[in-house]
Amino acid sequence: MTTAALIRADNVWRRFGGHDALRGLNLAVPEGSAYALIGANGAGKTTTIKLLMNLFGPSRGAATVMGVDTRRLSPEVLAQIGYVSENQVLPGRLSVGDYLDYLRPFYPTWDRALETSLRRRLQLPAKRRIGELSHGMRIKVALVCALPYRPKLLILDEPFSGLDPLVREEFMEGLLLESGETTMLISSHELGEIENFSTHVGFLDNGRMLLEEPMSDLSDRLREVRVTLEHPAAVPEHVPKEWLQARAFGNVFSFVDTRYSEAELGERLRALLGPVRHIDAQALPLRAVFTTLARAARDGAMP
Ligand code: ATP
Repeated sequence: MTTAALIRADNVWRRFGGHDALRGLNLAVPEGSAYALIGANGAGKTTTIKLLMNLFGPSRGAATVMGVDTRRLSPEVLAQIGYVSENQVLPGRLSVGDYLDYLRPFYPTWDRALETSLRRRLQLPAKRRIGELSHGMRIKVALVCALPYRPKLLILDEPFSGLDPLVREEFMEGLLLESGETTMLISSHELGEIENFSTHVGFLDNGRMLLEEPMSDLSDRLREVRVTLEHPAAVPEHVPKEWLQARAFGNVFSFVDTRYSEAELGERLRALLGPVRHIDAQALPLRAVFTTLARAARDGAMP
């Protein structure tokens, strides 16, 4: 089944001064997905998101959001997008309540009951001025402002930074409950938080998409393999390039298989290592997927 992409980027470049922050970025966020955009510091996540929100245009290539070129996003399209970023500019002189009063009329789909429940859940004091709130509380304000109109698309750039663990957990639960038809693009280093929630993952490296696929495919093909041998293990001279982080310790040979196939693995291992006592292949948590890919990208070992 092919689903329409709600966000698409085709060979997008973005240069700042002499530096290319995006270098031929391709991206496709399927409608209805919760897409985790991950990558090391400086990989280009925030640049991608700002470009999608038309805070600046591409130097080359083009991106579309809901089928509209990002350079031509109209207020009507923007009214269907919720955008929350770590460094969101908010009107510091207004109180939380006054700011919500100001925003409501811009959004025909604003749900007052949802606003109230979010404000209660995040314990935001309506009367306090936004400028006097802590960093984490300001992120909560941004979240409470972005959700009540039930945006068709929610773009969250590091939404958890500065939020305490209870708020993160409750926010994610709330998001799951309220999200309904919403498509989400979330950039975060908090991989534990987004792991169970994401349906798709895109791994950015140095301004390029190194990998983009459904989470279920990723956990099927990327496995941490531990092989117990009948004899002391050693790392073979020619390890297949799709086996990353090969190590030997005692009788155990371990690696991350990036093309896991249960049917073929046993035979390949026996051919390479001799008699095998036991093979254990576990799916990797997203955090380990990240560190494995980041290390491979850094060492030029991406299969
Ligand atoms: P992090 O995880 O650290 O937030 P990121 O993946 O969001 O990183 P970006 O903020 O998109 O990374 O930055 C990508 C690259 O582009 C970095 O090298 C950064 O220094 C550069 N960059 C981003 N914005 C600008 C700007 N306005 N002027 C100059 N360089 C910029």
